[in-house]
Amino acid sequence: MRILIVEDDKDIAKQLSAFLTQTGFLPHVAMTGEEGHYQGDVENFDLVLLDIGLPDRDGFSVLEEWRKSGRNMPVIIVSARSHKMEKIRGLKAGADDYITKPYDLEELVARIHANIRRHKGQAGAEQRAGNVVFDGFGGKVTVDGIAANLTRIEFRILQCLFMKQGKTLTATAISEHAYEDFDHDSSIIARHISNIRKKLGAGIIVTDSNRGYYVPQE
Ligand code: CA
Repeated sequence: MRILIVEDDKDIAKQLSAFLTQTGFLPHVAMTGEEGHYQGDVENFDLVLLDIGLPDRDGFSVLEEWRKSGRNMPVIIVSARSHKMEKIRGLKAGADDYITKPYDLEELVARIHANIRRHKGQAGAEQRAGNVVFDGFGGKVTVDGIAANLTRIEFRILQCLFMKQGKTLTATAISEHAYEDFDHDSSIIARHISNIRKKLGAGIIVTDSNRGYYVPQE
């Protein structure tokens, strides 16, 4: 899942980005309000972590503009400003959640998952397809209760297929979710999918006659 981090503090951005990568996300950092606004406008992110105190413009105005132009991705404000009025202002501007700095990284990740899940209308953290259970929060996949050993890319490919479970995704769409750069052709995705099938069983990912791939619904 792709996360946009709008944060002007280099150290915080670096630490956050490293932790999110470790936990299976694909983070992208923007260090100014303008850059963040632009990225959130033209790219598709599954969630945005938005700082308020930015060098060029405040995060509230960035968020308000996104919402005005119909950008509806979940946004968590992550700010040192802890006053009640700031939180209310953020939620009114269209934030889904508000976390104050300093925060606990594990709690932040739990909230990211909860917000993405709510946005997609899912009730629980785990998703199933046959004997495979995909646990996006725990970052693990099991087959008949036994943990499968997937590479980071394989996990991300499966993650985006489970996010749209039952719907066909093209190799291009999968590639955009699984890689930071967008230059991986469909044969590479096909190879990863073949490896995932070897590890989880052939039925976990269905090929939809040249249109793409999907994970069948329960
Ligand atoms: Ca800041």
